[in-house]
Amino acid sequence: MIRGSVVEQRRRCGKTSCRCTDGVSLHESTVLSYSEDGRNRTIMLASDQVGPVRAAVDRYRVARAKLEVAGNAGLAGLLTRVAARRGR
Ligand SMILES: [Zn+2]
Repeated sequence: MIRGSVVEQRRRCGKTSCRCTDGVSLHESTVLSYSEDGRNRTIMLASDQVGPVRAAVDRYRVARAKLEVAGNAGLAGLLTRVAARRGR
């Protein structure tokens, strides 16, 4: 699994002679966007990496959602037990 999100990016490359200087014919690339040490970072993906990385990002999202649910269930259980003790 991979933490982050796959996003399409359209940008200028910075070369003054490039077609992208018109602001319309921008370069399109697919990147993995992720945060590290509180900073947002991106890494460009090769076309054959996009599918597998997307799938890995989805697996991370699913696993994280399950973890969240399990953690909330544990918390709810504790709150119930604490309330029950108080009520005794
Ligand atoms: Zn360009």
